[in-house]
Amino acid sequence: MFDQKIYNNTPERKAFMKAYATRPEQKEKRKAYKASAKYREYWSAYRSTPEYKVYMAEYHQRYYSTSNGKTKSKANGAKPGRKEYMKSYWASPEGRAKRCHLQNQRRLSKTANGGSHTMVEWLELCGMFADCCAYCGMLKKLTRDHDVPVSRGGTDDISNILPSCSSCNSSKHDRTAAEFELQRAIP
Ligand SMILES: [Zn+2]
Repeated sequence: MFDQKIYNNTPERKAFMKAYATRPEQKEKRKAYKASAKYREYWSAYRSTPEYKVYMAEYHQRYYSTSNGKTKSKANGAKPGRKEYMKSYWASPEGRAKRCHLQNQRRLSKTANGGSHTMVEWLELCGMFADCCAYCGMLKKLTRDHDVPVSRGGTDDISNILPSCSSCNSSKHDRTAAEFELQRAIP
C-alpha cells in the first residue's frame, strides 16, 4: 500500500522538495509572505504563548550547553567594557524601567502559576538544610530559589522552594535544580 509518510522520507522525494522550495518564484513567494502583516501577526501571537516561552528557554539551555554556545556566552561576558556598560544600563532610566517591567512580569507569572508559602514554612525549610545553601552547601545568607523556575511555570509553593545562596541562585538562571546539578557535575 502507498504510505505518504514513508514516501516523504525517501531521498528522491526530499530532493524534489528541496528543488521545489529553492525555485526562484518560490523564494519570491516566501519573501512576500514574510513581509506581510499576516506573517507578523502570526509570529507576534505565537511569541506570546507560554509554549513558545518554554520552547525558547529549552532551546537556549540546549544552545548554551553546546561548545559553541559556551564559547559565545563567555565571549559576550568578557567583551571589554561590557561590565561597565551593563552597570550604567541598569542605572539609566531605560534600565530602571526595564528592571521594573521584568520584576512585574515575574510577579505576575508567580501569581499566575499559583501556590504560596508562609514565613514559618520557609524558616522550617532553612532549618532542614541547617541554614546552608542547597547547592554549594555553604553557610550563607539564604534566598528562596524556585526548583522549577517561575519563568517555566514553577509555583511559589514550599514544595518548589529550595534555600540557596544568592550566587548559586543567580547562576542557576532558568534551570531546574536537577538540571543545575547536572551542569555543575560537568566541569
Ligand atoms: Zn550556594
